[in-house]
Amino acid sequence: MAESFSFFQKVNTDFDKAARFTEYPRGLLEQIKICNNSCHFTFPIKRDDGTIQTIHGWRAEHSHHILPTKGGIRYSTLVNEDEIMALAALMTYKCALVDVPFGGAKGGIQLDRREYSESELERITRRYTYELIQKNYIGPGIDVPAPDFGTGETEMAWILDTYITMAPDKLNAMACVTGKPITQNGIHGRKEATGRGVVFGLQEACSVVEDMKQLGLPPGLHGKKVVVQGFGNVGSHAAQFLMEADARVTGIIERNGGIYDPRGFDIEKVAMHRKETGSIRGYPCTQFFENPNDGLELECDILVPAALENQLTAENAPRIKAAIVAEAANGPTTPDADKILQERGIMIIPDTFLNAGGVTVSYFEWLRNLSHVRFGRLGKRFEDQAQHAMRRAVEKATGYQFSDNELEIIHGADEEDLVNSGLQDTMINAYQEIRETRMQYKNKNNDVDCRTAAFINAIHKIAKSYMQLGIFP
Ligand code: NAD
Repeated sequence: MAESFSFFQKVNTDFDKAARFTEYPRGLLEQIKICNNSCHFTFPIKRDDGTIQTIHGWRAEHSHHILPTKGGIRYSTLVNEDEIMALAALMTYKCALVDVPFGGAKGGIQLDRREYSESELERITRRYTYELIQKNYIGPGIDVPAPDFGTGETEMAWILDTYITMAPDKLNAMACVTGKPITQNGIHGRKEATGRGVVFGLQEACSVVEDMKQLGLPPGLHGKKVVVQGFGNVGSHAAQFLMEADARVTGIIERNGGIYDPRGFDIEKVAMHRKETGSIRGYPCTQFFENPNDGLELECDILVPAALENQLTAENAPRIKAAIVAEAANGPTTPDADKILQERGIMIIPDTFLNAGGVTVSYFEWLRNLSHVRFGRLGKRFEDQAQHAMRRAVEKATGYQFSDNELEIIHGADEEDLVNSGLQDTMINAYQEIRETRMQYKNKNNDVDCRTAAFINAIHKIAKSYMQLGIFP
């Protein structure tokens, strides 16, 4: 069955569905929904073999209701204007949901990074950054990129270096991009943040006894069978933290096949195998799938799509066996699939909420760069000493001597502790707000799914920003 929506149309359809539950003027809703700016860049690149190739790149700033705008840059052959605008729009709603004060943006270059050498990728990234600077699409108070599909710390370091070279006197230049290496003023915990956020979000959703009962599952992550699609930044970290949370990752799907083992994988070992061989193929398992799509239909409790959009479609949705679809990727479920999964009673935890950990910790990195001080630098030693003074007082008063194991947990919070605590708090609060909205409508006999509830919350928060700007009385 052909799906009738483009990606951006899908996002707008979800928006419209939620907007019907609000009473804002049509003009305001239109303003929230529309993409404020987008730009198509084309530039030549000299390949290593001397040939000249034209590169196509885009940057879309979906909403300027708060500045700067924020969103990743992806390298993929699927990149086009519609995809970038859809992803930028999702960023707007995501930032609003988790109370991160950015408008949404997204950028991308249409290429398969595996077909380019490191030095070609560096030339392309630097030239793309130059285009962003020329067109005023980058800056600590304008628009701040981050990693996404096909990019990572290295590309962010090239972007930073190019920006700083062009603006050497800007005190806050470091905050022009996030997801940077630690040595380049990045923040501890950013690389793992999206995957970690996925698990914090899942933990919260699975802790609601009533919701789990409806799905026929016990509460908590303990023992839940999970299949992860995409073993990149988001998928591999989500899998690692799921394993640490006592879930069982029984399936891992990559673009060239999938592995299955009902006993659950040791994620660090799978990651090591992939690093050494370049693939998850050949990793000892019960079953190997040549066709990655087969993996999506494995028996499991939680399916975590963490690769690309449009993976769950009208075609495969009737055969999905998971009770929960946890959208770590952006837009993995088509509108038709969404309808089928909802009708089948499968719970979808939406991308706008679940993968917001990346932008949340990017926000912390941006704040750190603007304040020019590492989190924890001022308080860590003081907290450390205060806790040990308390420990000595307790030991003196009770005669009890703390063991070495107990002493290990007594320490002042360092940067990563603070980042993870801020991330956990953000994901818990956002989920509770989404659930509260669902319950509010349920009490009025309206069955609102998680995605719609998330959009309703985002619309309220963005409308409030417009009110503060005085645009809407
Ligand atoms: P990545 O490039 O690090 O990893 C993607 C992985 O998916 C790769 O290992 C790739 O081989 C695999 N893959 C590609 N096509 C596949 C297919 N058809 N089947 C199975 N595997 C496939 O990208 P990422 O940063 O992990 O991003 C993944 C998703 O998460 C994207 O939708 C992205 O927009 C979203 N996301 C990323 C971040 C972030 O911080 N990186 C934040 C929020 C959302």
